[in-house]
Amino acid sequence: MNCFELSTFRQQFPLLSIQVHQKPLIYFDNAATTQKPQSVIDTYQQYYSSYNANVHRASHALSASATEAFELARLKVKRFINSKSIEEIIWTKGTTEGFNLIAQTWGISQLQSGDVIVLSYSEHHANIVPWQMLAKKTGAVIKILPLTSEGKIDENSLDKVITTATRIVSVAHVSNVLGRINPIKKIIERAKAVGAITIIDGAQAIAHQRIDVQALGCDFYLFSAHKMFGPTGIGVLYGRKELLNSMPPYQGGGEMIKKVSFFEETTFNDLPFKFEPGTPNIAGVLSFSTAIDFLQQHLGDEMLNYENQLLDYCFKRLSEIKALKFVISGKPDIPLFSFTVLGHHNHDIAAALDSFGIAVRSGHHCAMPLMSYLKISGCLRVSLTAYNTVEEVDFFVESLDEILTDDYSDKVHEQAMDVNNELGQAENNIISLFKKVKGWDGKHREIMMLGKTLIRLPKEKRTDQSLISGCESLAWLTCYKDTNRQYIFSADSDAKVIRGLLVIILAAFDHKTAEQIIDFDTDAYFQDLGLMQHLSPSRGNGVYAIVAKIRAMVDLLG
Ligand code: PMP
Repeated sequence: MNCFELSTFRQQFPLLSIQVHQKPLIYFDNAATTQKPQSVIDTYQQYYSSYNANVHRASHALSASATEAFELARLKVKRFINSKSIEEIIWTKGTTEGFNLIAQTWGISQLQSGDVIVLSYSEHHANIVPWQMLAKKTGAVIKILPLTSEGKIDENSLDKVITTATRIVSVAHVSNVLGRINPIKKIIERAKAVGAITIIDGAQAIAHQRIDVQALGCDFYLFSAHKMFGPTGIGVLYGRKELLNSMPPYQGGGEMIKKVSFFEETTFNDLPFKFEPGTPNIAGVLSFSTAIDFLQQHLGDEMLNYENQLLDYCFKRLSEIKALKFVISGKPDIPLFSFTVLGHHNHDIAAALDSFGIAVRSGHHCAMPLMSYLKISGCLRVSLTAYNTVEEVDFFVESLDEILTDDYSDKVHEQAMDVNNELGQAENNIISLFKKVKGWDGKHREIMMLGKTLIRLPKEKRTDQSLISGCESLAWLTCYKDTNRQYIFSADSDAKVIRGLLVIILAAFDHKTAEQIIDFDTDAYFQDLGLMQHLSPSRGNGVYAIVAKIRAMVDLLG
């Protein structure tokens, strides 16, 4: 019997009560990964403190307890998705590994030149790249199912795209950008009619609806624990037993064998162990088991109804923002919204929201082909789950409104200075400027203001050579050496926040010699500025990518 009561549910997630940039965290990045309830965290810890031992191997008590709990987890997954037997449940690192496993086993052993693999335009890279690699090896070709104007795979295209040449149909149950439930039953029926195997990417569906793999009739269903309140690094490949039995193993090693000999052929273990070489992620499996208990306890009509209310409310509030443009028309099926904001770079909005304590995602969301299909370079994504609240949605919409008001980035900048003119002193000026500013929101505004001082690079200088790779948004850097052996840099980015960071970084490197540039302590500088701990990992990496590009250029110019 499951039950759902918002405050009791929410209270179980310790991370939801932390502060970010001195603001209560609002976590709207659940499609990337969900937060974990205390019970899941406890199981992880308990395994290591109470019964850590390897599974399946030793005949001692600890190992027996660990093995029992480990196999019980498999049984729970079997029941959770209603598969026929536990032999059909294979542990993987996550959804991504599931695709690679199928491509490298069934794919390599079955596909021939000219065979067709059918995907859709809205797939995650995890459901594209393994097939491209397979196609390259085998000579198979990839065909793509188009989408309707509402972002679902177009049922009307099934007969045309899925034909007797099709051997694999691999599609997402729910797209991680569009949040639409695809008509997978119809897709599976069509694939079956032409004798193709079906693989369903369940990464986004698993936490938002009940899954019954037998009712769906698919051959494979893949998902990751971390998107359903479980730990990272563990996932499930459900496969139909007959198919799994017919497939060669994926990787070799301990546990996946029956008998190993130098003189006779090595024989492989029975399912599911044939696909699980080496010591598995035991702590991951056990805490995943607790996550399933947790979800079983709550995933019922009440929770799904609540998610739907949240979805309707968030959709209504977002629809009121004039500058906001959803990437596809209509309301999504799960509370996941993707949009752009007219006149603003996605990363600028995400960074500004972060200064309000609101975690959203911006970029291509590992769906570059979908971005091209939608004719956008990226978008913002807000993804909610059952612990989010209407009040959080309200605060988010109000914050977005504030960011979009013209005066937002012009507020608080009394000591604006022309850092570009004070040669040699620029980094100290920046440090003293940032020391005067308290809190991340103030610092964020300063970064945005500094971005305005950056002289833009002419278009012809924004080339592949000047492009900085490793930055979340586009950024370019050019440089020359003057007669004093000092390096003079110019830079630009399509995101305001990156332009601001470029000003900060160039303040430290511009008009410096090669020795000064190589010796400069970037970490200490960012520490002094009080910035490093506030930058998102990807933006943090972007900062390092800029510094690396500066050093590479200096190296090149000698
Ligand atoms: N497919 C979809 C639809 C996803 O959203 C994700 C995760 N973003 C993946 C596949 C890959 O999952 P993982 O990174 O857990 O392997």
